[in-house]
Amino acid sequence: MLAATIEKATHRLTRRSNERLVLRTIYELGPISRAGVARATGLTRTTVSDVVEDLVGGGLVSEVGMGPSTGGKAPILLEVPADARHLVGVDVDRDRISGALVNLRGEIRSRASRGLADRDGEAASGELASLVLELTHAAQEPLAGIGIGAPGLVDTATGTVRWAVGLDWRDVPVGPRLTELTGLPVVIINDSQAAAMGEWAFGRHDPSSAMIVVKVGEGIGAGIIIGGRLYTGDAAGAGEVGHTRVVDDGPRCRCGGRGCLETVASLRAVLERARELVAESPASVLAQGPLTRDSLRQAFETGDALARQVVLESARPLGRVLGAMIGTLGAREVVLVGAMTAFGQPWLDAVRTETRDSALRLLVEQSSIHLGTTGADVVELGAAAMLMGSELGLAFPV
Ligand SMILES: [Zn+2]
Repeated sequence: MLAATIEKATHRLTRRSNERLVLRTIYELGPISRAGVARATGLTRTTVSDVVEDLVGGGLVSEVGMGPSTGGKAPILLEVPADARHLVGVDVDRDRISGALVNLRGEIRSRASRGLADRDGEAASGELASLVLELTHAAQEPLAGIGIGAPGLVDTATGTVRWAVGLDWRDVPVGPRLTELTGLPVVIINDSQAAAMGEWAFGRHDPSSAMIVVKVGEGIGAGIIIGGRLYTGDAAGAGEVGHTRVVDDGPRCRCGGRGCLETVASLRAVLERARELVAESPASVLAQGPLTRDSLRQAFETGDALARQVVLESARPLGRVLGAMIGTLGAREVVLVGAMTAFGQPWLDAVRTETRDSALRLLVEQSSIHLGTTGADVVELGAAAMLMGSELGLAFPV
């Protein structure tokens, strides 16, 4: 009896792992024939045909025409349609929650968002739930699930945000709550780690390199890809570099510490510094109106001295921490994403210069520091990519 139960369970597991292998092969190599899938996977043709029949039935694989004949009957070619499934990807930021319906090739099919203003705690959770419902109701294709990128310490195994300072979330079971609400699988990861997955999966990068993706926005955090996998660390907090102390007796940080990187190099810190200095700089265009993210960027672009000073000064402590990360990981690729990248090449150059001066020259010369290639939706894309891995077994080139 027990032996029969075990055999059944083993059979089910084998079947599932074959299904994932075949789907991934068609996703990566398609259009491809059944014989081609058998060759690429080492599975028998009968097993491949069996599995493909189920995948076609479930709409995950389509027959898309005939390949060239190699003497006998021309083979039917298979591929995974980009819109066979959609995924909900969400970026929970400190002032705004943005979400998107993403297809299996990382194309965004629709978007929705909610401003948080000063709402946090339960109010922010309510906004997240309402946004997710809006997107799931708008979906025109079958949904594979919901991926969430959230700031702070996230326990992906239980779907819980352990601590997100800016949102005042402590031990919030975001994943289980959204699953209960929608009946869909939910994956939740740290937002910088999601950004790293987004760049890795859908950006233009050398897949053989280790990669550090640093998100510099309202807060600062990094995601680390090593050997084609997201490295989350023993306590899930790998990449939480925003709270590294960089200024002795520096400004008080929301984490309770002082002089953290976030207090001098984040967008929030840069805006605060500009507000402090603007009173002493009546000639600055910043003195003429409300100081916002957009007015600071415009002033920076027109060469306003104060705007350039506060933005470029903020690049120095960031560059120092990047130098330490490159030295620790020996990564060749560093990608910067997030709101501060709006300051473009001059900011990037300042970060590069400081990084070069803060680490072993040879190591930095071998590495490349550049801006992300996936744009402002990088967290939504990365959260969707995580889900494609966990739900469908679709991984990305290693
Ligand atoms: Zn801090």
